[in-house]
Amino acid sequence: MKTLICSFCAKTGILCPKCEAKFRSGHISKVDVEVSVQLTKLAEKFPELDKMTLIRAFDVEGEYVLVLKGGDLARLRRESQVMKKIESELQRKVWFIEGEASDRKMLEDLFHPVRILTVNTVWLPDGSKLTKAIILGRKTERFPLDIEQVKRVVKEVRGIDLLVEFERL
Ligand SMILES: [Zn+2]
Repeated sequence: MKTLICSFCAKTGILCPKCEAKFRSGHISKVDVEVSVQLTKLAEKFPELDKMTLIRAFDVEGEYVLVLKGGDLARLRRESQVMKKIESELQRKVWFIEGEASDRKMLEDLFHPVRILTVNTVWLPDGSKLTKAIILGRKTERFPLDIEQVKRVVKEVRGIDLLVEFERL
């Protein structure tokens, strides 16, 4: 698996001078390093992971957000066992998104399997903007996602202020 550190560092968990410099200069974070090492370990058991690339990793309120290369997520969804293994190896909930995705695609990935009807930009009188996602249906108690956490994730990863609304047909 391609990660944010070189394969030597990802295997040993000890940073070489080059990766250490990336870490010190702030190009990669502690979470990036930890997740790179853990996923590399996991790739020994699940070779599917070797075809994938980790672009960034975030810790949002104790849950991980893994940013993968475009196309990786579709591949990973076909291997839902591997997705579950990643969560159990990292011992927390993991949100998966893709690096170069549009905001809409990112939201669709975060809300998956819940479908998003539309994504709009709402301008506020003070010039700031909100991104509004409308979900088809009604919010019930069985709604599978923590919407507040999705809002925190998009704020942290892309600086987006998200508003979520439900709409019945
Ligand atoms: Zn290195």
